[in-house]
Amino acid sequence: MICIKQLHKSFGSLEVLKGIDLTINKNQVVVLLGSSGSGKSTLLRCINFLEFYDQGEVWINNKKIDFHQTDLNKVREEVGMVFQHFNLFPHKTVLENIIEAPIYVKKMKKQEAEHTALELLAKVGLKDKAGEYPHMLSGGQKQRVAIARALAMEPKVMLFDEPTSALDPELVGEVLQVMKQLASEGITMVVVTHEMGFAKEVADQVVFMDEGKILEQAPPHVFFNQPESERSKKFLRRVL
Ligand code: ADP
Ligand code: MG
Repeated sequence: MICIKQLHKSFGSLEVLKGIDLTINKNQVVVLLGSSGSGKSTLLRCINFLEFYDQGEVWINNKKIDFHQTDLNKVREEVGMVFQHFNLFPHKTVLENIIEAPIYVKKMKKQEAEHTALELLAKVGLKDKAGEYPHMLSGGQKQRVAIARALAMEPKVMLFDEPTSALDPELVGEVLQVMKQLASEGITMVVVTHEMGFAKEVADQVVFMDEGKILEQAPPHVFFNQPESERSKKFLRRVL
């Protein structure tokens, strides 16, 4: 689904990604782990072209993306993203938040977009919230709306950047539950998270990043039971 080859990215003199190679297969859940500042968000943002890399290649669905020539809005339609801070439109209702992109980007008819939106809201357990505004929702509900909004574009892959990090602890579970459900439906996902339980239970592959490089990649039972590097052992001692 996604193939990243020798990706390099610097901000000024700070090299943040130092040659990342990563393949994400269809229907797989890849969990990205690593300390703060290791480059996880930057890598996700390069996959979605919110950030432009300096060197390397990104292939999506067997197509190499050349960001000078490719219509990046088309690419972004195929890659949904969910952020730590939800990023809902505050002046729009839940339903309006979800139908915005399908109508204006995909040119879907309003009625069809609303029909789909209500189905997605039911899926994330929020059908009764369609008419409410984001400020009336809890953080967990906002994040579930953000997930429904991303799904409304029917992306081929979903990227999650610490989707539960801004939530009160008692609201984390409801968001993880929705993500688990998506995983069980075979949606291809790349998830940056500090929720090790989720990584152990849901990930097909765990990727451990450190200082802009991938140090380890393994199925969760291997990574958590037999981490290879000193860095990953140290990381796991801190988070487990
Ligand atoms: P992580 O998500 O793993 O915490 P990030 O990808 O956010 O790491 O950041 C990696 C490094 O890049 C950090 O040192 C961060 O300060 C730096 N960085 C990220 N975005 C920018 C930016 N837009 N401008 C300058 N430095 C940045
Ligand atoms: Mg980050």
